[in-house]
Amino acid sequence: MSKITRRDFLKIAGATSAAGVLGHIPLAYAAKHGMSKGSARVVIVGGGFGGATCAKYLRRLDPGIAVTLVEPSSKFITCPFSNLVLGGLRTMDSITHSFDALKKKHGVNVIHDTVTSIDAAGNKVKLKSGKTLAYDRLVVSPGIDFKYDAIQGYSAKAEEVMPHAWKAGPQTVLLQNKLKAMKNGGTFVIVAPPNPFRCPPGPYERASIVAHYFKEQKPKSKILILDAKDKFSKQGLFEAGWQKLYPGMIEWIPGNKGGTVKSVEVKKMILDAEMAKHKADVVNLIPAQTAGKIALTSGLADDKGWCPVDPVTFESKMHPGIHVIGDSSIAGALPKSGFAASGEAKMCASAIVAMFKGEAPPQNSFVNTCYSLIGPKYGISVAGVYNNTDKGITSIEGSGGVSPKDAPDSFREEEAKYAFGWYESITADSWG
Ligand SMILES: Cc1cc2nc3c(=O)[nH]c(=O)nc-3n(C[C@H](O)[C@H](O)[C@H](O)COP(=O)(O)OP(=O)(O)OC[C@H]3O[C@@H](n4cnc5c(N)ncnc54)[C@H](O)[C@@H]3O)c2cc1C
Repeated sequence: MSKITRRDFLKIAGATSAAGVLGHIPLAYAAKHGMSKGSARVVIVGGGFGGATCAKYLRRLDPGIAVTLVEPSSKFITCPFSNLVLGGLRTMDSITHSFDALKKKHGVNVIHDTVTSIDAAGNKVKLKSGKTLAYDRLVVSPGIDFKYDAIQGYSAKAEEVMPHAWKAGPQTVLLQNKLKAMKNGGTFVIVAPPNPFRCPPGPYERASIVAHYFKEQKPKSKILILDAKDKFSKQGLFEAGWQKLYPGMIEWIPGNKGGTVKSVEVKKMILDAEMAKHKADVVNLIPAQTAGKIALTSGLADDKGWCPVDPVTFESKMHPGIHVIGDSSIAGALPKSGFAASGEAKMCASAIVAMFKGEAPPQNSFVNTCYSLIGPKYGISVAGVYNNTDKGITSIEGSGGVSPKDAPDSFREEEAKYAFGWYESITADSWG
């Protein structure tokens, strides 16, 4: 029997792999899909909840995949807990996360730049710096953008006077400073957006946390919520909490009672709602929303401004080879939340790994819990469990639910603790 030396073995192994597999992708699959020679390349647009999680989990599932994440900001500031910054309960620093772990621990190539166009036919993206990146699969997670023209008189420029603070960062600081400068006895108006929008309970948590700040610092002040909708997430729980903690301070005007704001006079701080004009000292105008701009300009969105995707793989229904996750996607019954974006990112990562291997993507299911703080020791939540049916991503009947209505204070305090725990664990999962 002839002996095989270590050298012979390496030669044979090398030849086999060159014939059959190319950096974790079967060659036949790679050829059929016109893929690159070398390891599989995934480019990700956006380093938020969806993009950062997808980058990390792709590398964990298959370290042979070259993952490049493009994100303009050098650090990511989370919207979750930015309402607490407005109430002076957290600092901006405490909601700011670096990309170091993605780079150093998980081997993601993080490029701080902006994707300005996507060439879906040529499998490449162009960056603001002029660079071009080629990909085998592209994941797009750019969050949301605003319909500035939905309210007459509002504009991108007007957000300096009437901040939305619906993307955390300078807008959060601007709104916080305006609230700090407001006189005791002033009126703070929140204009809540129509559906669908990022973080359904967010505007009402914001009203609660600002009320907490007012109660301590400016107790004669009022909060008015002008809403385009007739109902909102966890409404009964919010209203009971407001009654208990801030009686008479928060007024909510729904769409069917004239809450829809049609136009604004920015300089005069006047909001023209359907049945009355309202004068404010500080305005937080949260405009109607669409998918992130790059998704719109790349033809990934439908005529309503959101991106239709396959519910199993999150591959775009408009452009094959491109996946859309997070707030920009139409993900069935899943809300536009950081928790949902993170789940979609993991499912999308496993689908991409399977597709590279020529295997069927795994069936998926999701959970989502949205905690809201009505006060620092008063938490409430809504939870859901979802799976894929022939109707897409659907809530499983009888699963999830909201916090009990008549819970004791100790229960609300426990839920507030869970909210803080949730924040620590999801941010460590995405950027740690
Ligand atoms: C006040 C508030 C409170 C919230 N609280 C919660 C909460 O308690 N729990 C929860 O689950 N969710 C919460 N959310 C919702 C959560 O923030 C979003 O659902 C989540 O951020 C969506 O993730 P994403 O990846 O789609 O977008 P994002 O996290 O916004 O990330 C998008 C990223 O893409 C980048 N980007 C955009 N365009 C480009 C481009 N062309 N090139 C490169 N990069 C680009 C952006 O810079 C950004 O960093 C809250 C939201 C708000 C506003």
